[in-house]
Amino acid sequence: MNFEKVSLSILQEALEKLEDGFNDLPEIDHDVDTNALRAILLETAERMRDNYPYQHPLYAGQMLKPPHPVARLAYMLSLWLNPNNHALDGGRASSAMEKEAVANIAAMFGWDAHLGHLCGGGTMANMEALWVAGRLYPGKKVVASQQAHYTHNRLTEVLHIPFQAIPCDTRAKMDLNALEDVLKQGGVGTVVATLGSTATGSVDPLPDILDLKKRYNFHLHVDAAYGGYFFLANNLASEARTAFDRITDADSIVIDPHKHGLQPYGCGCVLFKDPSVGKFYKHDSPYTYFSSAELHLGEISLECSRAGASAVALWATQKLFPMRKGETFSQGLEKGRKAALDLFHHFQEDTRFLTALPPELDIVIWAPQGKSASEISQRSKAFFEAAAAENLHLAVASFPKTMFEDSWDIDWDEEQISCLRSCLMKAEHLAWVEHIWQILNRVAVRTI
Ligand SMILES: *Cc1c(COP(=O)(O)O)cnc(C)c1O
Repeated sequence: MNFEKVSLSILQEALEKLEDGFNDLPEIDHDVDTNALRAILLETAERMRDNYPYQHPLYAGQMLKPPHPVARLAYMLSLWLNPNNHALDGGRASSAMEKEAVANIAAMFGWDAHLGHLCGGGTMANMEALWVAGRLYPGKKVVASQQAHYTHNRLTEVLHIPFQAIPCDTRAKMDLNALEDVLKQGGVGTVVATLGSTATGSVDPLPDILDLKKRYNFHLHVDAAYGGYFFLANNLASEARTAFDRITDADSIVIDPHKHGLQPYGCGCVLFKDPSVGKFYKHDSPYTYFSSAELHLGEISLECSRAGASAVALWATQKLFPMRKGETFSQGLEKGRKAALDLFHHFQEDTRFLTALPPELDIVIWAPQGKSASEISQRSKAFFEAAAAENLHLAVASFPKTMFEDSWDIDWDEEQISCLRSCLMKAEHLAWVEHIWQILNRVAVRTI
């Protein structure tokens, strides 16, 4: 595995440029014992050699996408200042950069006005969205599909908001009839639509959910932590395309720049369409600064201290790769999706494998064939191990029988079934997909 290191020299140059901005300050001495530092840093590198997962295209398991060099370098560059984006006063430039970067994401979804900010990740972002929704519809339920991210249920516990899971159809999408049944009973304040579920990449039927919103009136939250950037991809099937095109009609959106936005971890984003929800955040802290008349980020976020570095990295990435359809960034997403379709096609054509869900984004689900649910589950785990021994890393995911019982004529001796799952999130996966298939083929010869 080789790391991209060429770009590192630019950091030195950029750091000197940054330092020039502080030249009128009196000099300070830096007391760094470089020998000791070097020894520890090399020990750190030695220790990290054991890290798994890692950023190679043959890691095709869980969601993992390396940050782009521009994000890595901008993040590191900002550490010489270590801005804190809890307030304009914690990082003047980095807070302004956050506002621009977040406005760009809102504009991608077609929103001119918005209230939003970056935060630690999708979980924190969803928590804010659910918290605000709970304030708008006090005492009412949050509902999300059974395939929604598991944290929604847990977050509603933290927020003391009742929660109900809505069953999914055979494509792992929220079942509309089941949703309407629950809406008819009343008491629902928030519907979470997942655009790109974490396990399968399934896209909930947003246009139909929006129709139900007209009749039943609720806060519509779109959890697009993983899938949001696919808004830009030009190779979605029409059903997913239509859903993404309607994101603009949501009340709140969560998207994770640290999932598909080429950012290091620690970068989630929450957006509200109606800026007046800012009123719920009101606090009266005696120790945050109020030197600026402008609403500062700490006034519209639940977290206080946050890494300004994340905002600087995202801002720089958006400069290099504008989020526009047909350009480099969106082409990267299209490549991952194409890789997923190519791989899925191989499985479909090969009787040693079972498939059911065509990928809606860039996640592929498949299983080694077998006579029963228990045999398939066992084979999936054996396959996972055997592939890992060849340095091809997959993931195992468990699903309810209801998702596959129409498609797979097997003995359903268990209610759950373990399948294999690959997130082909890297643009490089497209160039590696045939290589990956060759390894899968070798593993299949031995294990199925
Ligand atoms: C990853 C994910 C989350 C959680 O986000 P974190 O950044 O891991 O906290 C929430 N919802 C969906 C759909 C996700 O894929």
